[in-house]
Formats: sequence, structure tokens, C-alpha cells
Amino acid sequence: MANTDNASRHVVIFDTTLRDGEQSPGASMNLAEKMEIAQSLVDLGVDVIEAGFPIASPGDFEAVRSIARNIRGSVICGLARCRTADIDRAGEALKDAQRGRIHVFLATSPIHREFKLKMSKEEIIRQAVAGVKQARTYCDDVEYSPEDATRTELDFLCQVVEATIDAGASTINIPDTVGYATPSHMAEVIRTLRERVSNIDRAVLSIHCHNDLGMAVANSLAAVEAGAGQVECTINGLGERAGNCSLEEVVMALRTRNDYYQAETRINTRRLVPVSRLVSNITGIQVQRNKAIVGQNAFAHEAGIHQDGMLKERTTYEIMRPEDVGFSMSDLVLGKHSGRAALADRAKALGYTVTGEQLDTVFEQFKILADKKKAIYDADIAALVEQQIHAVAEQWAVDSYQVTCGTGQIPEVTLRLRRGDEKQEVHLSCGDGPIDAIFLAIEQATGVEVTCRDFSVHSVTVGKDAQGEVLVQVDHNGQLYRGRAVSTDSVEASAKAFLNAINRIVSLSNK
Ligand SMILES: [Zn+2]
Repeated sequence: MANTDNASRHVVIFDTTLRDGEQSPGASMNLAEKMEIAQSLVDLGVDVIEAGFPIASPGDFEAVRSIARNIRGSVICGLARCRTADIDRAGEALKDAQRGRIHVFLATSPIHREFKLKMSKEEIIRQAVAGVKQARTYCDDVEYSPEDATRTELDFLCQVVEATIDAGASTINIPDTVGYATPSHMAEVIRTLRERVSNIDRAVLSIHCHNDLGMAVANSLAAVEAGAGQVECTINGLGERAGNCSLEEVVMALRTRNDYYQAETRINTRRLVPVSRLVSNITGIQVQRNKAIVGQNAFAHEAGIHQDGMLKERTTYEIMRPEDVGFSMSDLVLGKHSGRAALADRAKALGYTVTGEQLDTVFEQFKILADKKKAIYDADIAALVEQQIHAVAEQWAVDSYQVTCGTGQIPEVTLRLRRGDEKQEVHLSCGDGPIDAIFLAIEQATGVEVTCRDFSVHSVTVGKDAQGEVLVQVDHNGQLYRGRAVSTDSVEASAKAFLNAINRIVSLSNK
């Protein structure tokens, strides 16, 4: 039996794309990108946005502070270890939030106690309680996570939870930090806490699952069924290793099987696909085609026998409608005569918020593109807006380049870059082809050395005049960085994408 209450209960959706999701290799985002995602999460109807880990770096602090200051409509949360400096920093970052939450964590499992923390059970309880109390001096909304909860002795877990609720935590999150739990195990943990912790009704029980065994969504649903009232998840299941519980899957499971779970979320499901695309475009991490809910093939029926059934009655083979998750029924085409409002409208439908100066620039570029190609598709618009969001202040830009090459000839390249008033010109004769030569010239001009790990070109839309999108991934001191650019000329797109990655290195290492 799923739920003994008659009324549907509300499940809080806590999104951690900007914190846990960002830990995915190569997914680090700049401030403008984080702001864009935060706004789209508000539009999606997410209850809590975990915006970052303020003490981790000045960049993380700045991101949490800006989101807390400027984003309205969701609770903004900052992560902290149970340490004075961490909590002070989180409190400071969240100062201007309309509604802020401090999320403190301290590991409780024997393996963490013994090897990482070198602390006894009593010391763990004392420090967790002190952390919650300190966080409460900054805000009323405090969440506590016993890290590695699923590998913690249940008796001890109950003790820690009871003590931290007494100290003032209003949300208790149970993280399956290493993706070790199974659905029935997870349900057992939640049930035990509800039965044995005397003050449990003073807090919301939350669940935070990792996908190492491919069970993050199943484990989260099992926890909800057992009484959890909050799910921590990320868009596209983004996260380190195999990722986190995927927001779109858990939300659509609760909605589609409301008959069973009798639990509801505040999510506007029609925004799921736009937000999924936004996160994928910003992080450069593609969504697999057969990914549930938001994958390109999630609603494609190929088998003839299914198609026949679908034409007679859609529900024969369809448990959800594509439009319910935000797949648009037609790819709307804009052209030369489309106005600013139409462009802004289309961008909004695609998950972007473009206004003011940004809209002016995008509209200018839209007009230039519309002169080059007749039909402007959704993907073209996404690419134009992306380039605006990705723009990093004081970055290197291509002034001009010239490459000559041919069969049996070493390419020659002349490249001029500019950054503010600074100019760099290099002339090189090297490389295995025009693109390789340009990459080498960019490295020399900027003085940033990298190893190219991945390079791909594909067309954004259809037709001979389609824009080419170039994605590059480079390695700099063991860290992965990505670059992306779009142009109707693929050599130019390659140069810009490579430079985009270099700019990202420069701006992220400046922090
Ligand atoms: Zn996590």
C-alpha cells in the first residue's frame, strides 16, 4: 500500500544542479550561467535551489550571494560543513535572500568517523548539534545531512537525527552519498527514523540519492513511499560519477503514478524539456537519446505495431503525453521579418530569460544570421542566446585570422586576438590541418597550454546553410574545460569554441 492518507501530500523538490551537479567533471559554470539556470529553476517551480558551497571558493560564494540577492520565488540554500567558518560564510552569502536555508552536513558512518574525521560517536553528535545551532543564528530554515547515512548504524543514525532536530533542524536529509542503497533498504531507513525518532514530526525527512548502481530514482521513490517529504535531485541527473537522482524522472513518476504515491509536487512539468536543454547546453553534457522523459527518443514510437495502436488510441502505448513534459509539437520557424518580441518569446519557450541589453545583442545577431539563412530554427536561437550567456567579461576574442593549406603543405596561419585594448598577433607555420594550426596559434597568443580531449562538429539545424556547432573539451592541469561556438563557417566556429574554452580557463582560474 502506498499511502494511508486520503489527501495527496506535497513533496518538496530540492534541486542541487548548481551544487552537486556542478561537481560533474567539466561542468563548472560561470556566474552568468548559474544565474540563468537559477531563474529557469524558479520558472520550473522548484521549491529549494541549492546554489553552491560558499566556503569552497570565492566564485562559489559570489554565485550563492548573487542568486540569493536577485532570484525570487524559491528558497535559496547554501551548503556548509559543521564548522564555524563554513557556516559564517554560508550565512553571509545568504544574507539578502528572500527565503534562505543553510544546509549543514557531517558524516556519521563508521568508515567516515574512523578514517576521515577521526571522531567518536559522541563528538559527532556534539559537532552536528553545534553546527545546527550556529546555522540557526543566521536563519530559521536549517537542514542537516548525516553524510553517508545509508552506511551508518541505524541506532546511531536515530540518535543523531533526534539531537539535530532538537537543536533546531527543520529538514533532515538522508544522503546515499556513495550510491549504495537499494529501494527496500532505503524504505527501511526512512520507516525506522519515522518510528523511532521521537521528535521526527518536527522535521521534514529528505532523501538525496546517487546513481552508482542506477537506482537513484527508484531509491528516492521508495523513500517518498515510506514517508520522505523532500527529494534532492538534479536536472538530467547531472552529478559526479554516475550522477544524482534525476529531477524530471522522479517528478514524472510521482505525477504519472499519483494513483499509487498520492504525492504532488509544484513542478510545472511543461518546463522540463526546456530546462533540460538549457542545462545540457550550458554544461556541454549531452542527454542520451533514450533518457527517460527528456531524451530525444523518449516519446518516439518506431515499431509498426505500436504506431498502429497509437493512431487508434494514444493511451494504448503512451503513459505520458510529450507536450506534458514540454516537447513542442512543432519547431516554430522565425525569419528576417520576425520582431524582437517574437524572438524573446521563442527564447523564453526554450528555457532562456533574455531581456534588456542582452536581448538587444541577441536580436542584432539574429538579424545578421537571418540575412545569411532563410529559416531560423529553435536550435539556432538557442545557439545565439548561449553565446551571449557564455560571454565572459574581459575575454579574448578573434579579431581576424587567415589560414592557407592544401595537400602536402604545412598550414600557415596568421591570427589576431584582442582583449580589451590588448592585441596579440601570431604567425605560425605548423599543424596537421587548418584547425590544428589555429588551435596552436591560439595557445601561443594567449599563453595557455592545453591538451585537446574532444572535438566535434555537427550541424545545429538542417539544410546547406545550416550553422555548424563546434564543441571542444580541453585538459588544463588535469582539469577539464569546455568550449562551444556556432557559425555558418566551421573553421571560424572551431577557433571560437577553442578560444571559449581558453577564456573559461582564464576566468575560472582568476577566481
Ligand atoms: Zn551528493
